[in-house]
Amino acid sequence: MSNSSRPTRATRTTIDDILSSQAGRRFFGDGPPNWRQGRNDQPAKTSELAVHERGLLAKALRRDGSAEALELAGRIDLCRRGRRCLSGACPACARAAQRVFVHACRNLFDGHGQEMVAVNVVCHWAGIDRGRLAEHEDIFEDTRGRLLDALADVAARAVGGFDISLNTHESDAFEPYWAPHVLIMAPARRLLRLGQDFRPWFPAGDDTPRPVRMSKFDGEARGFAYALKPDFSRRISLEPRLLADGSRSTFGTRGKPIGGASRVELALALDRAGLDARLFMRGYELVTSGGDVEIVPRTSSQGRASQQADQPGRTPSPR
Ligand SMILES: [Zn+2]
Repeated sequence: MSNSSRPTRATRTTIDDILSSQAGRRFFGDGPPNWRQGRNDQPAKTSELAVHERGLLAKALRRDGSAEALELAGRIDLCRRGRRCLSGACPACARAAQRVFVHACRNLFDGHGQEMVAVNVVCHWAGIDRGRLAEHEDIFEDTRGRLLDALADVAARAVGGFDISLNTHESDAFEPYWAPHVLIMAPARRLLRLGQDFRPWFPAGDDTPRPVRMSKFDGEARGFAYALKPDFSRRISLEPRLLADGSRSTFGTRGKPIGGASRVELALALDRAGLDARLFMRGYELVTSGGDVEIVPRTSSQGRASQQADQPGRTPSPR
């Protein structure tokens, strides 16, 4: 097939490339895209706050004092306009990467007839013991691999981002561990119909009673933004509590910031993985076209990903 069928000359790119280019400078600023977030509907993080957080992280890394931590502190301290550090740990660069993603997704919802689903996915076996992130070059690798297999099996495309939380228990019922998870957005019709085939790829675990949560996506920027949020949290599992009516409340969690040695451990892991490792795409590509950046459905050699699998589907193997 000739490549003349492509309507525009789009070039595949990466978040790193965008953020190190002249055109990428605007993502470090406070112009569009803008959105509100969180339960209190607050404005998204400002560039000023991200720079402040970068300073705090550099301090924490210096306090840690290991050779790796000192090296990373030196690098993020030098992150400036025109010479961005592009570390996955840098709060300023991670915020800019999130803003690239939100901007690049601007036409997806309408492009899919305003019918998309948001899917939260946890591979419970991809959890990593606290203190052992350093053994992983890419902490999202296991989750990514399984998600690619699952989407290939149902021949669906999806775009989104990886997150990781530190899971702890209020009365130490389990050892703290790192839990990678992913939030994807996908065209609704196919994934809703094939949801039954998709779910078995992600069996429930002891601390993961609902490994796949699928909901209708409203297309808002804040939804895309959440997929690549630049903040990470500690999730505290609570003991079941007796409610006033005598019934037992089920499993509950609260979120808190990650501090101390764990914060340094995570920063080093995010740095090793890089900014682009946070991004998940299947059947889409990040391209520049006409000086702007966009995530578009992939139409080239892969064929129509929404209608046919680009690789033979594999059956889920329970773990
Ligand atoms: Zn930076």
